[in-house]
Amino acid sequence: MTHDGATDQLTFQDPVERFARITPPKQRQPEPGLDEDLTPQADRGESSYRGTGRLEGRRALITGADSGIGAAVAIAFAREGADVALSYLPAEEEDAQKVQQLIEDAGRRAYLFPGDLADGQYCTQLVSEAVDALGGLDALVNNAGRQIAVEDIADLTDEQWQRTYDTNIRSIFLISQAALPHMAPGSTIVNSTSIQGYQPSTQLLDYASTKAAINNFTKGLAQQVAAQGIRVNGVAPGPIWTPLQVSDGQPQEALPEFGKNTPMGRAGQPTELAPAYVFLTSPESSYVVGETLHVNGGMPSP
Ligand code: NAD
Ligand code: MG
Repeated sequence: MTHDGATDQLTFQDPVERFARITPPKQRQPEPGLDEDLTPQADRGESSYRGTGRLEGRRALITGADSGIGAAVAIAFAREGADVALSYLPAEEEDAQKVQQLIEDAGRRAYLFPGDLADGQYCTQLVSEAVDALGGLDALVNNAGRQIAVEDIADLTDEQWQRTYDTNIRSIFLISQAALPHMAPGSTIVNSTSIQGYQPSTQLLDYASTKAAINNFTKGLAQQVAAQGIRVNGVAPGPIWTPLQVSDGQPQEALPEFGKNTPMGRAGQPTELAPAYVFLTSPESSYVVGETLHVNGGMPSP
């Protein structure tokens, strides 16, 4: 148990009951959406994630670190002993500052780098500024992503297609390319893919296909750099309650049922993803390379 009574991630319990089976009301935020305005609030592990020293002294860059899964990973990394550079959009400053405070509360350093990952120049500049601030780079988490549902291919614009591809997959290529020269043996890259990469929803043609591309890129790059002692892996979340879903990521009428179609019967919370990223970044996963770790409440995956 933690100080305020919430059970931490290492307490044995019924996983079905660990978090409420939420029925989110219809709601809409403009893209990118803020955790601050999410109803109900999501759990990023603020009062529950317990560190056990597994990332002591690591220097990590995390994209999309202001909210949702990225925020949960940033909080967990800090409590495991890592310093963290956070990338996010300028509109997310408030969410980012809250995560920065939580990292500092854990006794670690946090550096903020707002910018647009669809801009290639920001991607490469982000890496060099993060390396300067952190004094090096051992861990990269390519987690940022945009998801805008469009029901009919006739209404999917080329502009949206391009922006989704630039944000979700081109940025991973550019950031990884810029980061690798700074990474010593033992360093890691973890990319956020999705169950959508395997089971695409009809209204997510652009998004889901980027997630398949991320998964494939992860497995290819992993083989390329494995002999250098750098491990590249992916995490494929299922339905997780985050601002992505309420900023046109889902049709609004789908929100009350979000996550109930999983074998576990409920949506996941961002903090339930954090241990997967910690595992793939820590030395204990030394022989795990090019793997996709599915965290999705039981949805069958290859
Ligand atoms: P989120 O909205 O909290 O996080 C996504 C983040 O991506 C945003 O906070 C934002 O900072 C960043 N981002 C988006 N566009 C950007 C841009 N142009 N420039 C810079 N940053 C940008 O939502 P989340 O659900 O935590 O998403 C994190 C990752 O998890 C995404 O890659 C998403 O595809 C993936 N994922 C989420 C789910 C889910 O159900 N929530 C399921 C599978 C995969
Ligand atoms: Mg956000």
